[in-house]
Amino acid sequence: MTILVTGGAGYIGSHTVLYLKEKGESVVVLDNLLTGHRQSVLNDVPFYMGSLHDEQLLSYICQNHNIEAVIHFAANSLVGESVKDPLSYYENNIAGTLSLLKVMNKNNVKRIVFSSTAAVYGEPKSVPIQEEDPAIPTNPYGETKLAIEKMLHWADKAHGIKSVALRYFNAAGADPEGRIGEEHLPETHLIPIVLQAALGQRENITVFGDDYPTPDGTCVRDYVHVMDLADAHYCALQKIRNTKESGIYNLGNGKGFSVKEVIEVCREVAQYDIKIETAQRRTGDPAVLVASSQKARDELKWHPRYPDLKTIVTDAWNWHKNKAESFSVVQHSK
Ligand code: UDP
Repeated sequence: MTILVTGGAGYIGSHTVLYLKEKGESVVVLDNLLTGHRQSVLNDVPFYMGSLHDEQLLSYICQNHNIEAVIHFAANSLVGESVKDPLSYYENNIAGTLSLLKVMNKNNVKRIVFSSTAAVYGEPKSVPIQEEDPAIPTNPYGETKLAIEKMLHWADKAHGIKSVALRYFNAAGADPEGRIGEEHLPETHLIPIVLQAALGQRENITVFGDDYPTPDGTCVRDYVHVMDLADAHYCALQKIRNTKESGIYNLGNGKGFSVKEVIEVCREVAQYDIKIETAQRRTGDPAVLVASSQKARDELKWHPRYPDLKTIVTDAWNWHKNKAESFSVVQHSK
């Protein structure tokens, strides 16, 4: 029996594929490679380049690989972009998942672990955020993820498709062994942007807003190591295999860091005095997002191994630095 990982060439997807293989699972990847990277997926993992909207391809994969469960990452996932281009978020995220669920149901695949997000909460009333707190997204990205969670709920009631939705807070870091890391083109996430500046790949960093109601005026986020997220997917899979119960879980470390604090940790790790400038707030950004992950700890038996921000940044830095060095070796040898 095999697990289909959609979006398995993306940042969190590729780390999860690596982790599942280490756990001895059989895995197949579907990715359209619009934002993912083929080289982030191990060569011995069957790989299909294609779209979630291609139901024929999805059926083919389910039948030919004896799929027992899906881990579903494939989605558009940028808050700012979703505000500018909401319809493509509705199309890719909601219609894409609809087509996946239809094919799963037809092919009797009844388990799915879904990449959801802290963005479903919008501006929280209190922190740390708990799963039963109101979900009122402030941007189309969060709206589409919340709509999918609801679709999963009803697919369970009607068709017995069991799901675990994982609401990630801020994914960061890289494989501690340095095999893969975070590589978005263009990059929009805070930690990789700061590290790129430390490597001289960009001039300076823009802090989006310093007038938030937080101690230093910049946004506070809960950063979680990508390998801990990968582990959470494995735990979630075991949960639906064993208990056949659906659920929704936050994944974070329960500790918030402001944008300025993150930059400070990056400065320390990279040993480089990164220049910052301040600009207006980015549309759709809540002031504070910090998770309570007690439910995931209790029910999924998820225990993050890398909760320390400095460890998270160090793993990200090692990957970025090695990539830059190997790129410069290739350039010089040309
Ligand atoms: N951020 C920033 N400058 C950047 C990128 C991000 O000030 O160049 C801020 C962003 O406004 C947010 C935090 O850093 O408050 C984390 O943003 P990121 O895009 O990494 O993750 P998100 O919270 O959007 O998932």
